[in-house]
Amino acid sequence: MNALEQQLSYPMGEALPPGGRAIDVAPGVRWLRMPLPFALDHINLWLVRDAGDAVAGWAIVDCGVASDATRQAWGEVFESSLDGLPVQRLIVTHMHPDHMGLAAWLTKRWDVRLWISATDWNAARMASASTTGFGGHAAAAFMASHGLTDPESLEKIRRRSNYYASMVPEVPTQFRRLMHGDVLRIGDHDWACHAGYGHAPEHISLYCAALNTLISGDMVLPRISTNISVIDIEPEANPLPLFLNSLDAMRALPADTLVLPSHGRPFRGLHTRIDQLQAHHQERLADVLAACAQAPQSAAALLPVLFKRQLDLHQTTFAMGEAVAHVHALWFDGRLTREKGADGVFRFAAV
Ligand SMILES: [Zn+2]
Repeated sequence: MNALEQQLSYPMGEALPPGGRAIDVAPGVRWLRMPLPFALDHINLWLVRDAGDAVAGWAIVDCGVASDATRQAWGEVFESSLDGLPVQRLIVTHMHPDHMGLAAWLTKRWDVRLWISATDWNAARMASASTTGFGGHAAAAFMASHGLTDPESLEKIRRRSNYYASMVPEVPTQFRRLMHGDVLRIGDHDWACHAGYGHAPEHISLYCAALNTLISGDMVLPRISTNISVIDIEPEANPLPLFLNSLDAMRALPADTLVLPSHGRPFRGLHTRIDQLQAHHQERLADVLAACAQAPQSAAALLPVLFKRQLDLHQTTFAMGEAVAHVHALWFDGRLTREKGADGVFRFAAV
């Protein structure tokens, strides 16, 4: 949780959209929430007033996970919050299950196109058809190589082989590509695509200058820090500098931008939040470096250094990914060296 949250302002106050109904957050932009089956129990989704083929309608941004509860909530939103107008396109910020889950269902329901980065569309297609990165034997072997050796946890990770597909059973077979710098005309306004890296393969945030509003997806969240993980399919990845550089690029947007995040509440204070996140990761990097100066450390051994709270298995797998991301940032920077022990575990030592 963000201890400096009071430095941000929440223009909507404590207001939250009730279940099954969207509320206005900016002219032509509506906010709705869907339940999630995690400790993080909700995702924010957005409706943007559109005008495809000169006919009024809506663009949907992000989907929620594939579940009966989400489908039912969408049904209620269609009744209550579209002013009787059709959905005209679906935009998905990135491939993670809470954003991508119902994309196939929504595009079929309304006969509309999915708009997404090509990288994330491909990654979603693969993940929904296999076990890449989210469980199974390869994920367990990767975690073990970073020191997670508890047999019970490894067995659970091995068995969690359809994790992504359970929440994203189907990905649309066709899409329209979004790239950094593209400008989408949605209804009366232009929205510029900002690519962000380090969290998802190629995350797209949308900024509207006329409304001074940013749909930030998971790249900028007010309360929690975005998950930055190394996963088994790219074991030498270095996502943390990618994320921090992407955040810095968002400083080009006005400081008083209204930020619409995927989790938490709409807020102002974009530059402040970027400063907080930069400082947060610099502190963690310093903690990791200090621990590795005492003795060589595996990523698993660093979990208590990075996470003060008790972690369940789901959180441990995310935390392992984060720990590897932090040691890799220092390793690629030449401040840590990496050595594989006789036990097959990577340990990192300060130079
Ligand atoms: Zn995400």
